[in-house]
Amino acid sequence: MNLLLLTEADFTRPGRVQLTDQRARHIIQVLGSAVGDSLKVGQLDGLRGSGTIIELSNNSVTLEVTLDTPPPAKLPLTLLLALPRPKVARRVLAAATELGVENIILINSYRVEKSYWQSPLVDDDHLRNAMLEGLVQSGDTHLPSLTRATLFKPFVEDHLPEWLSQRTGLLAHPYAEVACDGAPQKPCLLAIGPEGGFIPYEVDKLLSAGMTGISLGPRILRVETAVPALIGALYY
Ligand code: SAM
Repeated sequence: MNLLLLTEADFTRPGRVQLTDQRARHIIQVLGSAVGDSLKVGQLDGLRGSGTIIELSNNSVTLEVTLDTPPPAKLPLTLLLALPRPKVARRVLAAATELGVENIILINSYRVEKSYWQSPLVDDDHLRNAMLEGLVQSGDTHLPSLTRATLFKPFVEDHLPEWLSQRTGLLAHPYAEVACDGAPQKPCLLAIGPEGGFIPYEVDKLLSAGMTGISLGPRILRVETAVPALIGALYY
């Protein structure tokens, strides 16, 4: 746990928090912390800082916290991700959050199995928890926005133009002719296909909407490999 993530409900008064859930168990059993120890803390949607343990029992930890440091800046990146298998979706969203992605849009595609959308593993709670793990890992406090576009064509025709009005649209495609070798540091919307790839109709629709195809080379990467590799190539 690189950051003890706090919410408003944890505060018993300004500057003091009491934890009795799995975070308390982690501090006691995994970290083996003692009274007087200091931990890195952050408030969800707020500042980071430090917390000093002032009371500790079998299942409760009380800390005095000081929050004075902003979280790391987000990347100006929106990920348009064809919904992968639910277990993979969870891992990809955690990794995208770690890397600082600002917005995530899960989109349907011909090769996304319909059952994926119904899986409890991709319901709001599960995906929020996955993204919270990404925050804790990377020391961030701001969740990416998460939206779902369950119909491909209406999203691309009616909503994508607005997203692209302030962003460069990039379509990650193994067969694209433009190499992904830039470090744009500018707002981008990056589309990643499903495990079977976007079908030609979808590729055409995305390119017609103004997106540019980019490739990392001839190796066909799994979605969970392609996402961090592409973000790394673009921004890191
Ligand atoms: N059989 C699919 C195909 O040939 O398009 C493979 C899809 S791949 C498993 C899933 C997604 O990862 C792709 O749609 C693309 O967005 C991204 N991807 C994988 N390898 C890539 C590469 N070398 N360059 C750019 N994007 C890649």
